[in-house]
Amino acid sequence: MAKINPKFAKELNAFGSANFNACYNCGNCTAVCSLSSKDDSFPREMVRLSVLGLEDEIKSSLKPWGCYYCGECSTQCPQDANPGELMMSLRRWLTAKYDWTGFSGLLYKSLPLTLTVFVLALVGVIAFANAVHFELEPMLHFGHYFEMIAIGTVGVVILLPNIIRMWWFTIGKPKVEVTPSKYINSIGELFIHMFTQKRALGCDDNQVRWLEHLILVIAYLSLLFTTVFLDWFGSENLFVIVLGYVESLIIFVVTVDFVGNRIKKSKAVTKHSQPSDWFFVVWLLLMGLTALLVRLFIDLDLLESNKWLYLVHLTVLVQWALIIVPFGKWTHFLYRSFAMYFEKLIVEA
Ligand code: SF4
Ligand code: SF4
Repeated sequence: MAKINPKFAKELNAFGSANFNACYNCGNCTAVCSLSSKDDSFPREMVRLSVLGLEDEIKSSLKPWGCYYCGECSTQCPQDANPGELMMSLRRWLTAKYDWTGFSGLLYKSLPLTLTVFVLALVGVIAFANAVHFELEPMLHFGHYFEMIAIGTVGVVILLPNIIRMWWFTIGKPKVEVTPSKYINSIGELFIHMFTQKRALGCDDNQVRWLEHLILVIAYLSLLFTTVFLDWFGSENLFVIVLGYVESLIIFVVTVDFVGNRIKKSKAVTKHSQPSDWFFVVWLLLMGLTALLVRLFIDLDLLESNKWLYLVHLTVLVQWALIIVPFGKWTHFLYRSFAMYFEKLIVEA
């Protein structure tokens, strides 16, 4: 029997969406959404499930991950129920449900708690720097190993169990029968979506945004590789040095555009920014900018007399790796890719 959560609307408000109860089921949103089909009344179906508080049905659905927030449904809604923003809020809510630690939901719901955690990370970095007497060499050394350890630990301890929980809610618990060979044969879908986000091309106004996302994903992953495995800050290889400059510059330029769009509220996706959206774009911008400046200061032999710059970069890095990647909006990139993979498995089961 379907379980109804009468407090679902109130709970979802904490994740951003405010007016979906105004929906009177006209279907305009489904008529304009490029993701709907004759068998699938998306996003109206998700609006109905949310109005009724059918939490388990929403938790077992992958559909909110298909939406790239073109905003067409919200524009056409006569009730101003804003289904596009509801899909965004459902993605945040689902992220909190997948997270086994529960920390993600707490951060989404409380800005003071989020700020406190960011300040604690800053205090931790200063305490570490103090412990090594603010010597540049050990700080650089630590920063390099921190990235490796953080990637491994966050991946294994937080993200992997969360992906398993996502699988359980959407495939395991509903008893969708997927053979092991299907998991293997469809794995390409996961990587295609992870690197290209190709579903975004389904939305008519998304071509430029898709291209920006693609460039950003490639630059971000490449910079990660360049700093962690090619030791960008310690390298004397000209190719590696130039590569890092190019990657960090691309991240900085693209994220400046993202931040600008959020300030101008020029697109549907940027009209209702939550703190988690701001943290994601601003910290990505700061990562690109501070990494670029640190390497520039190394090349100009200025870092020794400006250690504060490396401390700023390290603080941004620690906050990014320990807060935004495991519990914030970064996870959307991961869950969206797995959602496309799981969806293919379900369709073919
Ligand atoms: S267009 Fe608005 S009122 Fe009509 S079904 Fe969609 S959300 Fe509801
Ligand atoms: S925002 Fe665009 S893709 Fe998302 S539900 Fe609305 S019309 Fe569909």
